[in-house]
Amino acid sequence: MEYDDNDVGNVSPEERAQRKRNRIFLVLALFLFLILLLAALFWFRSGALPSSATTNSSPGFVQTPGAAPSPSPLPKGLIVSFLDVGQGDCAFLQSPSGKTMLIDGGPENAFSTIDRFLVSHGVAGLDVVIATHLHTDHIGGLIQIVDAYPIGEFYYPPFDAENETYFSLRDALKESQAAAASPLAGADTRIPWDDAIEVRVLAPYDTVYSDFNDTSYILRVTYGNTSVLFAGDATALGEKLAMKAQPNHYFHADVLKIGHHGSSDSTSEKFLETVQPSIAVISVGKDNGYGLPDAELLERLSKQGIKVYRTDEDGTVTLLLDGTNVTVIEYP
Ligand SMILES: [Zn+2]
Repeated sequence: MEYDDNDVGNVSPEERAQRKRNRIFLVLALFLFLILLLAALFWFRSGALPSSATTNSSPGFVQTPGAAPSPSPLPKGLIVSFLDVGQGDCAFLQSPSGKTMLIDGGPENAFSTIDRFLVSHGVAGLDVVIATHLHTDHIGGLIQIVDAYPIGEFYYPPFDAENETYFSLRDALKESQAAAASPLAGADTRIPWDDAIEVRVLAPYDTVYSDFNDTSYILRVTYGNTSVLFAGDATALGEKLAMKAQPNHYFHADVLKIGHHGSSDSTSEKFLETVQPSIAVISVGKDNGYGLPDAELLERLSKQGIKVYRTDEDGTVTLLLDGTNVTVIEYP
């Protein structure tokens, strides 16, 4: 016999009505459940996240000018800009993760140049500032930098200078919240900045230097297989003492910031052989009156096929180190 769902021959009218009510109730309950489910899904997907998870979390001190909602674009590598600060030294570094560093600050009148540069790149503070040594053409602009910018850590070599500029810098540092440290080169001295980048200290040592220029930090900054060696104002003697104390391979670098503004008493042949740079940057003022850079040095660099950039002729020079290659880039 064929079974018929609609066979209701044995069901009373009351029971049929009850079943009908049950079905309607079930359908309504299902409908309500679906509406609640859809509402819950919509709520989770449309902004029930904590507000901090959607805010601009740009690392370091780099900010987008005008507090725009999107983070400023970070470089795909280590940026190193040698600023044209006239007769002096100043380099700005930005790591791929947005950490910032300033190595030297040029003479006192360089502040406006440095300030303009930092503001135009959305830099509101500096994680690390290093004064390679305490001569005025390296620390002059740093006094106002310390006054105007939050600084994470300030480094300078432990050799006191006797100049008013240094005294003013010391006062500014005392007033600021910046932590200060003066490490010497040792077997493995490094300045902490960014986990992806090594900042190795190759000079000076705990000794008596007859030339104050030799109290300069010699630093190698390395990202992947690319690196820049900052020679400060070290003379050939400072270079020699450093090379005696450290393994040769610590000096290898793609880029050499030539020592002492290209003066004849720095960048010895042995030092150049050890560093083996393909690019040299000379930070020097136009018509500086010292005859810098030295003509013989320029000749030696050119003979060795080293590409030379000069801040007096090229203005601010910016390099991008991507871990494999070094390229000169526009970074106005
Ligand atoms: Zn100098």
